[in-house]
Formats: sequence, structure tokens, C-alpha cells
Amino acid sequence: MLGISRSLLQLCGCRGIASLSALSETHQMLHKTCRDFAEAELKPIAAKIDREHLFPKAQIKKMGELGLLAMTVPESLGGSGLDYLAYAIAMEEISRGCASTGVIMSVNNSLYLGPLDKFGNDEQKEKYIVPFTKGDRLGCFALSEPGNGSDAGAASTVAKLSGDHYVLNGTKSWITNGYEATGVVVFATTDKSKKHKGISALLVDKPTEGLSLGKKEDKLGIRGSSTCSLIFEDCPVTAENILGEPGMGFKIAMMSLDAGRIGIASQALGIAQAALDCAVEYASKRTAFGNAIIKLQAIQAKIADMASKLESSRLLTWRAAYLKDQGKPFTKEAAMAKLAASEAATFCAHQSIQILGGMGYVTDMPAERHYRDARITEIYEGTSEIQRLVIAGNIMKEYSV
Ligand SMILES: Cc1cc2nc3c(=O)[nH]c(=O)nc-3n(C[C@H](O)[C@H](O)[C@H](O)COP(=O)(O)OP(=O)(O)OC[C@H]3O[C@@H](n4cnc5c(N)ncnc54)[C@H](O)[C@@H]3O)c2cc1C
Repeated sequence: MLGISRSLLQLCGCRGIASLSALSETHQMLHKTCRDFAEAELKPIAAKIDREHLFPKAQIKKMGELGLLAMTVPESLGGSGLDYLAYAIAMEEISRGCASTGVIMSVNNSLYLGPLDKFGNDEQKEKYIVPFTKGDRLGCFALSEPGNGSDAGAASTVAKLSGDHYVLNGTKSWITNGYEATGVVVFATTDKSKKHKGISALLVDKPTEGLSLGKKEDKLGIRGSSTCSLIFEDCPVTAENILGEPGMGFKIAMMSLDAGRIGIASQALGIAQAALDCAVEYASKRTAFGNAIIKLQAIQAKIADMASKLESSRLLTWRAAYLKDQGKPFTKEAAMAKLAASEAATFCAHQSIQILGGMGYVTDMPAERHYRDARITEIYEGTSEIQRLVIAGNIMKEYSV
């Protein structure tokens, strides 16, 4: 465990979110622990797991032991009992070392354990949270389908009640941690007449009768994390495994994604920071026309733009986390954070390649991986177009439009 508890956090207090040095000592300690871990354990393997599609099993186990896989889960359930700002800080540092490891951590924390912690009953928490906190077991979140991603309310997977159990039929696509996960939060229609209000969330063990996996997707980036379809064919699920009440599934999914977006924004910050680090280091050493290229104002302008986008999106991300920790509404702020940070990641990774010239285009250097990893942050947990809809929808409400 990190040895950093919620009570200690409260003792230290959160002095502000304007910069790392303004954070509580606990957040700063967490930042250092995660940075040291990422430097020692993740950076050295990131290229290999990307190239060979390898799941970072040993590193995930160590992260579980550090308390990074259940950061906001109460200590009584095996978690670290920290706040969301702590989670954002840790996610950035882990993703700076390896973006694939970052998404594995993010799904377990925000999309699997998050809804279980908020909506699970005591028995469900004991069975589906406690064993998933230490890196021995991972969870996944199955909302998207081949026919609907952004339009999540149009779920065609069906769960039909038959006596004391539901029978699940349908296919969920693009499921992160799909290969390794042994617990799934699945969203399925239990009452078609109610449209999105007829969607329910169910807890499914994996492997189980009637559940098979599609092929492992061959992706552009984050190749160390598995992505696959979950295919349900007459899969029985005990009725006790409904999360919350029947018909609450869409609400559970949307609330989980609001929080998850803070995690993905933080993943994007980590990628953007890694791209900036790589560019500054290279430009300081590479000479052209008799000088290090970092002395060229054209290069400095790129670095200034990268750093400004990175730091402004970090502020948005920490603000969203801070609001969530205060129990205030944060849907709009989380969408702004994800939008800004994911676009900053793509921008920074693009500029980093440009600063490296030819070396930016080959796999000897990490710049091209950062570019490939950055792109997904603009797509999953709501595309940038969907984030803009969420932001505009909230602003229209504020203006009573
Ligand atoms: C690597 C990876 C991992 C993933 N992990 C998971 C996971 O763990 N669990 C899970 O459930 N899902 C997961 N997803 C799915 C992901 O969330 C969806 O891909 C994403 O929400 C977009 O859905 P879609 O692919 O169906 O695109 P579509 O919804 O078909 O969208 C296609 C395009 O249309 C645009 N568009 C759609 N609707 C609108 C609109 N109303 N206004 C403007 N533009 C619009 C989109 O922005 C996009 O540009 C993952 C996807 C990937 C690639």
C-alpha cells in the first residue's frame, strides 16, 4: 500500500491545485512514488509491450501492491481510500511511463471498481471489489456494442429474466482488459419498452458459461492493453448480480464515464508530458548549424505551445477532480478536461515528432509511440465530438436555453 490514507489526506488538507508544489504533502509524496515507479518499472518496458502486444502482468501486480489499482476504494474494502485528485496525479505519472499500463489502471479504478463502490450492496462489494484491489484480478466495463458506441442508450444486448436469473444475449465490443479481466460490469436491456431507462447493469464472472471472447484487436496504440469483444450467448447471470436497481444501468454508465473521463484526461496528460520531455531532451543535444536546436526560436515556439497546452489542460483536469472530491457537479468540467487534455496530447506528440525530425519517425525513439498512444484519448470514454456536446449542453442549461 502507499501508506497514504484518506485520514492523512484530510490532515494535510488540500492547499490548492494551481501547481504541484501547492498540493498537500501527501499528494506530492504520491506523485514522487508514482514517478519513481514509472521511471524504474514502466519506461524500460513500454516499447517492448507496445511492439509485442504484451500485458504488463508483473508491473500490474506491483501496482496493486502499491495501492494504485483501487485508489479511491475505502481501506475497509482493500483500497487506498484516497481522493480523485490523488488518482489523477497517479494516472498521469503511470501513463507518462507507459500509456498502455495507464489505461489498464484507469479501467479497473474508474469503470469497474467505481460503479461497484457507488452502487454495489455489501455482498457484491465483498465478492467483486475486495479481490480486485491488489492486482491479482482485474475488472472491465462492457457498454459499447458493434452497432452503437457514442449512442450508448441504443444497447441491443438483452438480459431476460427467467426465474432467479437473467439470460444475457448480445455482443459488447472494444472491451479494455477483455482478455485478462475476471469480473465484468455489463450493460444490457432488461425492458425494451423503456428505451435507455430499461437498461440495467449486471455483474458477470469471467470465464463463465455462455461468454466467449472475440479476437484481440490489433490497435494503433496502447497495444499492451487488450481490447476485444465479449460475446454472450444464453449466458446465465443470477438475479442477485444486478447492480443498483433494474433500469438504473444507463445512469450508472453515464456517472461512471463522468469520473472515468478524469482518468483518461490524466492519461492524456501523461502522454503529453512524455512527448514534451522527449522533445526537450532531444533538442538540447541535437545540433544543427553549429548550435543545439533548442536555441532556435522556431523550436522554442513549439516547446512553448506544447507546455502551455499541457499545463492548461492539467489545471482543467485537477479542477474536475477537485470538484468531484468536494461532492460538487463535475460533468461539464470532466468533459472539458478530457477534451483539452486529449487534444493537448495529440498536439504535443505531433510537435515532438517534428522536433526530432527523422528520429521522431522511427521506433528507436518513443516519440512515434506517444503519437499513436495519444490518438485513443480523443476516442474512448466519449469522443471529442461527444465531449463538446456534453459541454455545450451544460452551458445551455446554465443560460436556461
Ligand atoms: C482501444 C479502445 C478501447 C475501448 N475500451 C472500451 C471499454 O473498455 N468499454 C466500452 O464499453 N467501450 C470501449 N471502447 C469503445 C469506445 O468508447 C467507442 O469506440 C467510442 O465511444 C466511440 O464509439 P464508436 O466507435 O461506436 O463510434 P461512433 O459512435 O460510431 O462515432 C463515429 C464518429 O461519429 C461521431 N459522432 C457520433 N455521434 C455524434 C454526435 N451526436 N454528434 C457529433 N458527432 C458524433 C463520433 O464522434 C465519431 O467521430 C473502446 C474503444 C477503443 C478503440
